[in-house]
Amino acid sequence: MEHTATIAAIATAPGRGGVGVIRLSGKNLLPLAVTLSGGKTPKPRVALYTDFLDEQGQAIDNGLMLYFAAPASFTGEDVIELQGHGGPVVMNMLLSRCLALGARLAEPGEFTKRAFLNNKLDLAQAESVADLIDASSQSAARMALRSLKGSFSSHIHQLVDNLINLRMLVEATLDFPEEEIDFLEAANARGKLAKLRAELDNVLAQATQGAILREGMTVVLIGAPNVGKSSLLNALAGDDIAIVTDIAGTTRDTVREQITLDGVPVHIVDTAGLRETDDVVEKIGIERSHKALQEADVALILVDVREGINEKTRAILSSIPAGLKKIEVQNKIDLLMGSNTAPHGNKPPAAVYDEEQRSQMGSSTVCQAGVLYGEDAQRVSVSGVSTLVRLSAKSGEGLELLKQELLRIVGWQGESEGLFLARTRHLNSLQNAQHELENAAINGYDNIELLAEHLRLAQEALNEITGEFTADDLLGVIFSRFCIGK
Ligand code: GDP
Ligand code: ZN
Repeated sequence: MEHTATIAAIATAPGRGGVGVIRLSGKNLLPLAVTLSGGKTPKPRVALYTDFLDEQGQAIDNGLMLYFAAPASFTGEDVIELQGHGGPVVMNMLLSRCLALGARLAEPGEFTKRAFLNNKLDLAQAESVADLIDASSQSAARMALRSLKGSFSSHIHQLVDNLINLRMLVEATLDFPEEEIDFLEAANARGKLAKLRAELDNVLAQATQGAILREGMTVVLIGAPNVGKSSLLNALAGDDIAIVTDIAGTTRDTVREQITLDGVPVHIVDTAGLRETDDVVEKIGIERSHKALQEADVALILVDVREGINEKTRAILSSIPAGLKKIEVQNKIDLLMGSNTAPHGNKPPAAVYDEEQRSQMGSSTVCQAGVLYGEDAQRVSVSGVSTLVRLSAKSGEGLELLKQELLRIVGWQGESEGLFLARTRHLNSLQNAQHELENAAINGYDNIELLAEHLRLAQEALNEITGEFTADDLLGVIFSRFCIGK
C-alpha cells in the first residue's frame, strides 16, 4: 500500500468563502514549503504570513502557511495547511501549483486513512471523522465527537483486554490437559466469562442506541387516496426546523422529507403511488414505493377514522413486507368532534372500545387523540398492527403521540451521557463476538480447545471494530504477561 506520496486537496467546501484551505500531507514537505513561499522556512505550529508563488515567482495569493512536522500532525506525516482567499479560481490555482511541486490529488478520506495507517486514529475513530462531518443533528455531532475522542474505542479496548486475560488462562491450560478443568475452576474462568458477556451486552446496547442516532429511521406512509398522507407528512415536517428535501418524482406531492425527532433523523416517504394503475408514470411511482417499503423501518398505515380499514387499504397492506413494524394511524379525528363540546377529560378513554362497540356508541367516544397497544390495538384494527394512534393531521392533535411512538418502536431511549455514535458494521461485529462468547459459555468447558477457539474468534470480531488484527501477536502478549512456571 503506497501511502508516502505527498497528497493535496482543497479542504474547505466548494464555493466562495472568506478563507479557503488547502491541505497537504507527505513525508518531507519543507522543500515544497520553501519553494512555495519564496524561500521562507515555516516553523512547526507557527502561522507564517506569506505570498504563495507560482513558477515564475509571481504571487498566486497570500495568506497563512501552517506547518505540522511529523509525527505530531493529524496524519502522522508532515502536514501543511495553506489558508488563502476562499474563491474557486484562487484555490484551484494554488492546488495546481502544489501538484506541479510534486503532490498528487488526495483521494476521498485519504488524510484520515493515513492517520489510521500511522496509528493516529483507530478504525472506529476514523469512521467518526466522517460521521462528525455528516452529522445531521446536534446530538449526532456530539456523539460522533465522543467516538472520535475514543469513547467507543476505549469500551472496545476494555473488552479486548479482559478477553485477552481470559484467553491467557485458557491457552495456558491447553498445555496441562490432565489438570485443565481444576485449573480453570480455580482461576474462576466461568465467572470471568460471565462478566465479560455482561460487559459486551452493555456495550452492544449502547452501540445500538448510537446506531439508531447515526442511521436514523425510514418511515413510509401507506394508505388509500385522501386519507391524509400528504397532510401528515407536512404536519410532521412543519413544526420541526427540519431540512426539507424535495426529491424528484411527483410535483403534486412531496414524496420525501427528513425531520429530526429528539436528535434522531427520520426519513419519511409518502408512498402515494402505491395503488393499482395502468398509467406508465404512476407505475414508476409504484415501483419506487415498493423499493421504499423494502428499505423502511416503520410503516404508518393511514386510515380515515370514519372509515377504518377499507378494501383499498387492505389491498395495499397485502404488499407490505412482513418484517416491517406497523403503526395504524387513524386520521381526521377532528371531524368526529362535531357538536360535542365536552372537554376531552370527561370522555371515556378511546382505548377500551373495539370496532363494534365504537359504531354502536357513535363517533363522540373516539374523537380523542390516543394510543392503543398490543391486544387493544388489534381489537380495533384488522391489519394486525401492534399500535394504533388516533390523531388529526389538520389540527395537530395527537401528533406528539405519534412522534413518541415512532421513537419508542425503533428502541430509542434518548440521548444519555457517554453514548457514542455507532455503525451497523460495529453492531455486526459486536453481535458476532456475543455469539462466540455464548458458544464458549455453552460448549467450552467440555472441550478446552473449542473454548480457546471461540474466545479467539470473539476477539477477532472485536478487533474488526478498531481495525486491529492482533490475533498473531497474542502469543507475545501471553508470554509477556503470564508466567507459565508459576
Ligand atoms: P392523501 O391523498 O392521503 O395524501 O391525502 P391529503 O393529505 O392530500 O388529504 C386529503 C384531504 O383530506 C385534504 O382535503 C386534506 O385537507 C384533508 N385532511 C387531511 N388530514 C385531515 C385531518 O386530520 N382533518 C381534516 N378535517 N381533514 C384532513
Ligand atoms: Zn398525498
